[in-house]
Amino acid sequence: ARRKLIAGNWKMHGIAGDLGEITRISMASETLSDIDTAICVPATLIERASEAAPGFVIGGQDVHAEPRGAFTGSISAAMLVDAGAETVIVGHSERREAFGETDAQVAAKAAAALAAGLDVIVCCGESLDVREAGNALETVGKQIVASLPGEIPEGKLSVAYEPIWAIGTGKVAGPDEIREMHAHLRGELGKARGETFANETKILYGGSVKGENAGDILHLDHVDGALVGGASLTADQFIPIMNAAA
Ligand code: 13P
Repeated sequence: ARRKLIAGNWKMHGIAGDLGEITRISMASETLSDIDTAICVPATLIERASEAAPGFVIGGQDVHAEPRGAFTGSISAAMLVDAGAETVIVGHSERREAFGETDAQVAAKAAAALAAGLDVIVCCGESLDVREAGNALETVGKQIVASLPGEIPEGKLSVAYEPIWAIGTGKVAGPDEIREMHAHLRGELGKARGETFANETKILYGGSVKGENAGDILHLDHVDGALVGGASLTADQFIPIMNAAA
């Protein structure tokens, strides 16, 4: 069976004074041996978060596809590893939208991260327009297949389905929408990469996951965890989501 993964995405939140939240979250995670937990922090906080929570998985939120070079402001996969990261999010809709990241670029970033030994969470998800036009399944299915790198070592890559209209809106996707999409994505992963890969790959849901709705979401078929934004910023909000997965 696939172990559940509860990952936090702090987005552009977090300075030294917030490290205590990570310490508390990591301590709670030690009591939950059946699930995996991670927090993806701003790059400036990776090293200190790793030191504040030894043994707990800290991640980045983006990575450059190239190993080095004249890319002002960017961070390579080796730099994330050097700072103490063990995982990284790629292809978040906020980066696809604000920075014009394409599926091919997301795939290249994922490849660079895997080559450096990081785990990767590859995000996908449709806009409200696409959902209302009835094209969500087809669009997201194509998006995720095109966002996967060529070589994927076993157990190193997870997928996060995050409908854009559910991110930060308090508007969580309905159980039927989640179930249908996750089943569809697993089918598409199977067609593209084979049944073994599809069965082993975790598909997380993201979009307004909170302690109050986490139990219902996490027990749906094909939901292998959650990628949590706002409710990952404090231990008080995040630990109930972890408990709901255990
Ligand atoms: P919220 O949980 O704040 O809706 O954010 C979801 C998300 O984008 C996680 O990557």
